[in-house]
Amino acid sequence: MTPLDCGNIIKTELRRCAKICHEHFSWASIKLDIRYDLRGTAAGSAHKDRRVRFNLLLLMEQTIHDVQQVAAHEFAHIVVYRRWHESHTPRTIEQPVYDEAAFVAAADDIPSPHGQEWRRTMHLFGFYPQRCHKFDITKHRRR
Ligand SMILES: [Zn+2]
Repeated sequence: MTPLDCGNIIKTELRRCAKICHEHFSWASIKLDIRYDLRGTAAGSAHKDRRVRFNLLLLMEQTIHDVQQVAAHEFAHIVVYRRWHESHTPRTIEQPVYDEAAFVAAADDIPSPHGQEWRRTMHLFGFYPQRCHKFDITKHRRR
């Protein structure tokens, strides 16, 4: 597939997952910062500042299903971060849903990257929660 095709599959999949989150968690929207600048052997990465990065050169060689799975995989990390944050932070009107300072302060309590919460989210997205597949050596802050 072309880089454009690949980017479109990723975007469509992320939109599908966001819709599922809307239905299940009543989330209005999740603003992701999508980038295609990842290089090397990792297919994707998710960051707590809502950045998701994809390795287009690597992904355009994969099947559509694999590309979708990588997109859902990274989105699931964002979901876990956000749900953890919501359950650990008393919300006020003024407070942003996603508070970087709170994350840094309580970083040690963040659920493990491919733990129960993440696996449940992958099921919700309709994927088998495979932690790593053949080309996904996703980089995470913690393992
Ligand atoms: Zn991962």
